[in-house]
Amino acid sequence: MSFMKKSPWIIHYDGSSCNGCDIEVLACLTPLYDVERFGIVNTGNPKHADIFVVTGSVNAQNVPVIRQIYSQMPEPKAVVAVGICANSGGVFRECYNVIGGVDKAIPVDVYVPGCAARPEAIIDGIVRALDILEEKRAKLKSGKVEELEEQDGLPPEPFANKEGTP
Ligand code: SF4
Repeated sequence: MSFMKKSPWIIHYDGSSCNGCDIEVLACLTPLYDVERFGIVNTGNPKHADIFVVTGSVNAQNVPVIRQIYSQMPEPKAVVAVGICANSGGVFRECYNVIGGVDKAIPVDVYVPGCAARPEAIIDGIVRALDILEEKRAKLKSGKVEELEEQDGLPPEPFANKEGTP
């Protein structure tokens, strides 16, 4: 793992989940796993966040919210999709208004599998995201802003040509 000069702050958003993965994300903050001992802090403000942790699938209701949170985060930033629902839509994939995983709405850097994803896997994914943050920070410092913008740019709005649900 890269050496971090700053404690990474995370923001967590629950899309269309069963809350199973959310409970596991919370478990990471309990004394048993205690990610705060690594300096990882859970924040509610996207402007203070380095890592965006998303659980659950993406639907017409939450696409604008996910994109707004992501857009408010400063560079460098990384996104971790936690659980199969966030990875691909999972058990909600065939729902009438679900368009799939988080990467349909924003760029995803790390995919954490599992249903529910285990706390060890979530922590592993966040550690991977720390390395990606360092890579992006190096790009910023070396002036590769366009490359970073391409990497972190928003995909087309999934419901741009539709009103409400598909
Ligand atoms: S991956 Fe499983 S546990 Fe996690 S939100 Fe989806 S259905 Fe629930």
